[in-house]
Amino acid sequence: MTQRVVIVGASVGGATAAITLRGLGIETVLIERELTRAKPCGGAVPPAAFREFDLPTTLIDRKVTHCLVVSPSGQETHIDVAGSVPSTDDYVAMVRREVFDAFLRSRAQQRGAELIHAQLTGLRVERHGVTVTYRRVGDGGEQSITADAVIGADGAYSPTAKFLGLPNLPRAIALQERIALPDRQMARWEHTADLYLGHDVSPDLYAWAFPKRDHIAVGVGAGPGHTAQARTLLANLKARLGPALDGGRVLLREAHALPMEPRKHMAFDRAMLIGDAAGLVVHTSGEGIYWAMKSGQIAAQVLAQHLDAPSAAHLRAYEKLWWNEYGSMYAFLRWLQKWGYGNERQMEVFTEMCRNRDVQRLTFDSYMHKQMAPAPWLAQLRMTWDIIRAEARNYLRPRTPLRELHACVAAGD
Ligand SMILES: Cc1cc2nc3c(=O)[nH]c(=O)nc-3n(C[C@H](O)[C@H](O)[C@H](O)COP(=O)(O)OP(=O)(O)OC[C@H]3O[C@@H](n4cnc5c(N)ncnc54)[C@H](O)[C@@H]3O)c2cc1C
Repeated sequence: MTQRVVIVGASVGGATAAITLRGLGIETVLIERELTRAKPCGGAVPPAAFREFDLPTTLIDRKVTHCLVVSPSGQETHIDVAGSVPSTDDYVAMVRREVFDAFLRSRAQQRGAELIHAQLTGLRVERHGVTVTYRRVGDGGEQSITADAVIGADGAYSPTAKFLGLPNLPRAIALQERIALPDRQMARWEHTADLYLGHDVSPDLYAWAFPKRDHIAVGVGAGPGHTAQARTLLANLKARLGPALDGGRVLLREAHALPMEPRKHMAFDRAMLIGDAAGLVVHTSGEGIYWAMKSGQIAAQVLAQHLDAPSAAHLRAYEKLWWNEYGSMYAFLRWLQKWGYGNERQMEVFTEMCRNRDVQRLTFDSYMHKQMAPAPWLAQLRMTWDIIRAEARNYLRPRTPLRELHACVAAGD
């Protein structure tokens, strides 16, 4: 009998898993409830994704080659995007998710995956297979399909995980506006992406202004405990951007959750979770597109090897592969988020450390190429010395956050 896999969610992770499974000759069905609206997202993608998944660069709106980091007190650090070995591949790709996701979905269909426009409404995992129930978008008809296994690629709220009896993950909220700017204003963001730090714009993550073809995406991240403040944080970010947004027209305001912890397990009897459903977003940057695609690819490869006996014990090879390859990178970026965004003085230190060439090289190697080589001892010494100096500067003479300066000016002090 033909072996079949059902994937719930046909966004970046689900579509990549489907492409991989079809490449291995496995019948694949994708169930997706939203085929018109784009996933709310900043759309920053590393060049590694284009290389590793053979994606055309025509999907890229802009190649960012310069970053601006702004601290709570308004200190600015300007950085050129460059790894240890400079190459033409040194950039951050800016994509629109409606374009990027549609490409991946249509590639999955061209390779033979069936796409059903429907919402998952039930999932039963039994000894001999899985039964997936869905409600078609349009006529509302309820139907079921059986398969050998299911992959949950259904995002931060993962209904698949819920049907498997798993708890919700702690979640952050990211809220952003797409703003069309007059050409003269847009020129400022031609090849530049901005990151803003401070409790007024993002208490525990960061805020951004990312350029797209015809607009900029301006957004904030708010971790668990701060999600109710997201609107205020976005208003504060726009106030900080001030005249740079003059003449801007808001095209869209969009929000979505980001998982803040990876799941303890991502593989179960006849079921696997990938991308946001598995909690695979990295902490410092909130980056999840590459990780959803990569986890989709690895999960699909492992599943294809064990489709005759897809037990949890066999499928957990996916978890082992994942954490062997990326465990130290996740742990480091988790630590960096806590260290760099922990309080506003640390945010000042973080902004200053972004000027250190060794820090820049390490950051961009790990972001652009997904490689984390240990830094040479001399570089480690230089970084440690710079950290000590930055810590001393900011803790002995704390800088005044911009909002306090502005409040003084407003009060006429
Ligand atoms: C505002 C914001 C900005 C971000 N910026 C960036 C960034 O710049 N770079 C980056 O790398 N990452 C960014 N991220 C994170 C990134 O968007 C996610 O990590 C990534 O989309 C995860 O992909 P995924 O395939 O796992 O899940 P998702 O992209 O969330 O897709 C899940 C899919 O499942 C579908 N689905 C859900 N429930 C059902 C159901 N019951 N039935 C059928 N289908 C269902 C959904 O419709 C959706 O298409 C951002 C996130 C947010 C919220």
